[in-house]
Amino acid sequence: MSVRHGREFLSIPGPTTVPDEVLNAMHAPAVDIYAGPLLATTESCLSDLRRIFATDGKTYIYAANGHGAWEAAICNVFSRGDKVLALESGAFAVGWGQMASAVGVETEILPGDWRKSVDPQALEDRLRADTKGEIKAVLVVQVDTASGVVNDIPALRRSIDVVGHDALFMVDAIASLGTMPFEMDDWGIDVAVTGSQKGLMTPPGLSFNAANEKAKQRHEHAGLRTFYWDWTGREGAEHYQKYCGTPPEHQLFGLRKAMDMLLEEGLENVFERHRILAEATRAAVEVWAEGGAVEFNITEPHARSNSVTTVRVNEGFDIPAFTGYCREKCGVTLGVGISGLSGLAFRIAHMGHVNAPMVLGTLGVIETAFAALGVKHGRGGIQAAVDVLSRNVTP
Ligand SMILES: *Cc1c(COP(=O)(O)O)cnc(C)c1O
Repeated sequence: MSVRHGREFLSIPGPTTVPDEVLNAMHAPAVDIYAGPLLATTESCLSDLRRIFATDGKTYIYAANGHGAWEAAICNVFSRGDKVLALESGAFAVGWGQMASAVGVETEILPGDWRKSVDPQALEDRLRADTKGEIKAVLVVQVDTASGVVNDIPALRRSIDVVGHDALFMVDAIASLGTMPFEMDDWGIDVAVTGSQKGLMTPPGLSFNAANEKAKQRHEHAGLRTFYWDWTGREGAEHYQKYCGTPPEHQLFGLRKAMDMLLEEGLENVFERHRILAEATRAAVEVWAEGGAVEFNITEPHARSNSVTTVRVNEGFDIPAFTGYCREKCGVTLGVGISGLSGLAFRIAHMGHVNAPMVLGTLGVIETAFAALGVKHGRGGIQAAVDVLSRNVTP
């Protein structure tokens, strides 16, 4: 027996659900790339990206996924032989650092715990020991999509400031922009990167850099600049220079619509919606965990992200049987553990175009699967989620 047929739900932490409005906006003929409305679309996208990053700096659009935005950021500010410090709290800052290594940047990992956020004191201590100023940049993620952690970006900035260190502060907001506050200028972030397919609700294939004045100064002397990624090239007066070639126009139609939807809802509301839906998810997981078969990956409650919840499972738990049941029998595709959490966890995404029925439906399917598969779990997870919603979503 299966109750799969009906609208299926993709609950993986990227790509996320693309709103029908965004899909419809993309269903349009190709347009001229030299003149006409596309030029205004580009200008408005660059400018609304500044709003969403909360910066007066420059923004750049790449026809690339998140890895492209990583490489773009690296190539625009570093030279071969420069050293960077990547702050581990899961898979992604380390991955960014590996990408830097591949182009000749020396990457040191500040070791972290995959169950905790980055410790600002550890960063401060490491930078204090760097008396020669060898570390050119600090790389960190706001939300690590593998571990489910949210790092305290302002606290990490303070660690750099108390030491008076000159490193660039570079933040990956791929899984957090559009889901929680991000204040590039107020938080002293020099370079920020994000992608289209998570909080920004647009199909994968676009990614972005934002850079402030300090980053632009480093850029002047960067030895790894390439023609395609180059920020300066993309500031050229001709429209095609902004993309170093043909603009990914249908992606831009989609992004334009998605940003309209976010700004119409209001970023404060968008963040609050994510917070409440994430809390409902966490309330359910907390109840289920009483049965002993599952637990939060992130041990500190304040460091659990509002984008994705990573749930660790105990030894007897059959992840393929569980995710297979959710998908094949009930039409919900969950995320599995990746990288260091492969085979140890599953992930519930609550990021982007999500609302109460989508999250309650997902949680309901998980609880159904636990019961059907005989997974020992605390009963009443859904009730706990409903309690969070009814408390927070006032009439
Ligand atoms: C998804 C993700 C990436 C990688 O993006 P791709 O589009 O898969 O290249 C990098 N960092 C974080 C935090 C992510 O969530």
